[in-house]
Amino acid sequence: MKTAELIAKGESLPIMEAFYTIQGEGRFTGYPAYFIRLGGCDVGCVWCDVKESWEAGKWPVQSIEKIVSEAEKFPGRLAVITGGEPLMYDLGPLTSLLKEKGFTINIETSGAHPFSGDFDWVCFSPKKFKKPHSSIYSKANELKVVVFHSSDFAFAEEHAKLVKKDCELRIQPEWSKSEKFTPEIINYTKSHPNWKISLQTHKFMDIP
Ligand code: SF4
Repeated sequence: MKTAELIAKGESLPIMEAFYTIQGEGRFTGYPAYFIRLGGCDVGCVWCDVKESWEAGKWPVQSIEKIVSEAEKFPGRLAVITGGEPLMYDLGPLTSLLKEKGFTINIETSGAHPFSGDFDWVCFSPKKFKKPHSSIYSKANELKVVVFHSSDFAFAEEHAKLVKKDCELRIQPEWSKSEKFTPEIINYTKSHPNWKISLQTHKFMDIP
């Protein structure tokens, strides 16, 4: 089978990087986790800190067997699939193989493409630059909105109306705007206690 066909079936995927680290943000902050960062993103956030991920063709394509065998080399059994925008691909085969090998699987996604895969935790981080696909709202366990502009609070509330009742709500300052927005985020969370603050603790700790 040709590489493009394998990618279309989710049997092989472009891997920008994969590494064992500590989850720095959101619900699983502080958990050791194996990150699988897929190459390719068509969302185009102006403040994106992984712009090099955007072009999928730049990254080596690996079979899901290879991806999972690399993950198994580390002692942790939490895998985080991120990007780029991981839902550009059919994540069914990768997540079922990870499950077979005993992994708990989280995803971090902008939700801009149809949902696929079997996850234990779905962190949905919508972006203004590309409208989320409707399939994400019933799947999201956590809504994480990055604040880069004052209008992002209203954007956060718009999405909070669309997710499930038990979806955890988090707001997170965009790293370069942290100083500007952290006081506002603190006040917002105090007056809207259904929201919690998420910080990019890996950046404070200087870990990948
Ligand atoms: S969705 Fe993520 S990877 Fe894509 S441009 Fe936005 S921040 Fe970057």
